[in-house]
Order: sequence, then C-alpha cells, then structure tokens
Amino acid sequence: MTKKIFLTEDEMPRKWYNIAADMPNPMPPPLHPGTGQPVGPDDLAPIFPMNLIEQEVSTEREIAIPDEVLQIYRIWRPTPLVRAERFEKLLDAPVKIYFKNESVSPPGSHKPNTAVAQAYYNKVAGIKRITTETGAGQWGSALAFACCLLGLECKVYMVKISFQQKPYRRLMMMTWGANCIASPSDETQAGRTILSRNPDSPGSLGIAISEAVEAAVSDPSGETRYSLGSVLNHVLLHQTVIGLEAKAQIEKAGDYPDVVIGCAGGGSNFAGLSFAFLRDKINGKDIQVIAAEPTSCPTMTRGPYAYDFGDTVQMTPLLPMYTLGHNFMPPPIHAGGLRYHGMAPLVSQLVRDGLVEPRAYPNLDTFKAGVDFARSEGHIPAPETSHALAAVVDVARQAKAEGKEKTILVNFSGHGLVDLTAYDAYLSGQLTNYALPEEEIVKALKDLENFPKP
Ligand SMILES: *Cc1c(COP(=O)(O)O)cnc(C)c1O
Repeated sequence: MTKKIFLTEDEMPRKWYNIAADMPNPMPPPLHPGTGQPVGPDDLAPIFPMNLIEQEVSTEREIAIPDEVLQIYRIWRPTPLVRAERFEKLLDAPVKIYFKNESVSPPGSHKPNTAVAQAYYNKVAGIKRITTETGAGQWGSALAFACCLLGLECKVYMVKISFQQKPYRRLMMMTWGANCIASPSDETQAGRTILSRNPDSPGSLGIAISEAVEAAVSDPSGETRYSLGSVLNHVLLHQTVIGLEAKAQIEKAGDYPDVVIGCAGGGSNFAGLSFAFLRDKINGKDIQVIAAEPTSCPTMTRGPYAYDFGDTVQMTPLLPMYTLGHNFMPPPIHAGGLRYHGMAPLVSQLVRDGLVEPRAYPNLDTFKAGVDFARSEGHIPAPETSHALAAVVDVARQAKAEGKEKTILVNFSGHGLVDLTAYDAYLSGQLTNYALPEEEIVKALKDLENFPKP
C-alpha cells in the first residue's frame, strides 16, 4: 500500500474551479445595506482591486492560475495526499482514510493558497499595501508571507486576545516584514468606538475586519486595499487547487472517496477540498460531503439562513449566509479560526440545497481526535483541523456500527505547532464541552429582524 501519493510540479492544476458555474441554485446577490439593492462592482472598488471583484462575480467554470502564482505555489505545492493507515488501525473500523496535507506550506496551513493569489492580483492592479484582520494569526501570517514574496506592504489587525496569547504568529508576521497591531486599536474610528464602550475588549474577528476595511478605504493615496482570508467567492475559488490535486491523487491511487470532510470556520478550506468533488455529486455521483463546525459556534447547525453583515461595525455588504448574527461573541475556545459568526455564501447555498451536510462537534471530542491522530500519524493538527478529524471518527464509528466499508477523504488544513497552549489546556484537563445556550442565539439574532430576507 502506498503511504503518500504525490503529483509532480508539472501535474499541478493550471486552473481553479469555480463552482458557481455548476450550482443547481445560484446564491442570492450580496446587498448594499443602505439601498437594499445588489452591490455592484463600483461599490466594492474602494475595498478590493477590480480583477478580484471580477472573480467574485464570475460564473466561468475555470479560471487560469497566473504563472507568477504557480511559481510561488511550487514552494510547497503539490501537497501530499497521505493514507492515514495508522489512524485507521487505531479507529478499528472498516474505513480507508486519506488526508490532504495542507500543513506543509511555510505558514503551516491552506491559507497561503489564496493569500498568494490575492497579493498577486493586488500587485498587478497597482496596489502597494494590503490591510487585513487575523484571529488566531494563521491568516495574518499567510498574507504576510504572500506580501513578502510579492513585494507588497502588509498591515495586520490581530484580535487582541490572540495578540496577547499567541506571540509566535505575530513574530512570524514580523519576520516576513508585516506590521501587526492589536485590535481594537486606537488607529481607527471603529477601534476607538469599541474601546470607548469597553476599554478591556478582547477583540473579535468582526471588530478587526472593521478596522482593516476602514484603514484601507481611508488611505488618501488610494494605493491600499483590504484582503479577506475566507468567506468570499474569490477566496474559495483560489482554494480549489486543494481538491483538484486531491482528486488527481486519489484517482492515481485507484480510489475515490465515499465521504469528503473539512472543518468550516468561514468555509474556505472545506470548499477548497470539496468543490471539485461536489461537481461530481451535482452530476450524479453518490458521495457524502460533511462540513464540521464547533458546538460553541454552531453557525450552520443552529443559525438561520439570512442576510447579515460580515463584520460587527456593519461596513461590509449584507451577505446571504448561515449566521449567528454580526454581534455574536463566541466563547474563547481554542480554535480561533472557527469562531466566525457567518459562513461563506457559496457553502451556505450548498447546505441549503442538501449537497453539504453540516455537523457540530464539542471541544473534548475534537481534541481527543487530534491527540489520537498525533499519536498514530505523528502530525499534530491545528485545533480547527481536529474538528474535521472528529468528523472522521464519527463517520468511522458509524461505518463500523453499520458494517459498511467507507473511503474517507479529509482536509488536514494546518498543523498545531503554534497552538500547543491549547493542547496544554486539554492535556491538563482544563477544557470542558460548551454548547451555546439557546438564549444567546436568540439574543444575537434580534439584530437581523429588519434586514431583507434571502
Ligand atoms: C483559518 C483556518 C481554518 C478555518 O478557516 P476556513 O476558511 O473555514 O478554512 C481551518 N483550519 C486552519 C488550519 C486554519 O488556519
């Protein structure tokens, strides 16, 4: 049995796959919060360069990956597809498990797949500087890495609690030459507003997004744009290189998955692995596609499908998505990347259409799966990734109970080597399960009552 299935650099995909061309029902358009009308390219132009806006609304099935992006991808791509035979043995179930190892990129996750593409498109549009937010720091470090290689300035607003608790990602950003500051900061109106209400605010992804957007649109030189690490269509598009490679690899192994699994924060690594396979599912293939989220931030499993802002200070368009409300404050669990209140509109639409099945997993199940994986396969997963592994365990258990053989493909979205304090909390017994009380959700959703309904 082959342990690792490689592609050569020549076999790397030359095009991204745009699922908008194949969806049975298109997603409703994002709306301008002021007018309630669909946002046009001009509304977005102060925030993103036009070439990315074109990708955001494109329905072309395939979009060529520029040569300069491919050249940088070659630093770590194609990534290996690995048969998790030792994890299989540990689970003792009739399953074959393949994991796509996206942790081999220099920042340690799937995120540079879009960071490099976005930095490239900004550069060719004449932009000199990119702002962004980061939660746990994975996105900020990915964008810092990408801007460094493409010669752009990078400014990262990092959620304050992570800024304090996770110095290593901040230091990665600084090593790649980026400027990283704690959010809420006093550098923006959005940050000052939050601090005046609560000087000890630990920050949130929504607040940091507001600061980064404001910093981009208020730069008088006009040479700054904003960049988002997940949720939007063009971000998901860039991530499809993962699934296109994985499909070629698993077919090389003479196999095909029955179940495709990814964890979902904003939806990008999940989409990246699954969209190439969802294309087959839309065309009649019988596969199960599972998006795994935390019970503490149960966007798809307990939130409504509604129009909502992408950020707390209501600067983004209204997006049609599963959401817990833009003011939702998730408890500070150790999977920062999964704490976002919304879900990518493309993924949300696929959930509505029954093509994607969301499942939620509690803290202790995810860490148990992560530690079991580390003790069998060796790789220590990011706490986010462990949600996908908890889904693998769940599917394996079910397969065993039903006596059915299953081939599972899972996205190993990142390693946990910069998240070991979370493992410390788990291994020393300090973690507990946390299911969000219903009244928290009801309270957070009050804000959506007067918005248009998709
Ligand atoms: C950011 C991150 C996630 C969650 O983001 P998505 O956009 O849902 O992929 C998951 N895993 C890792 C390792 C991450 O860094």
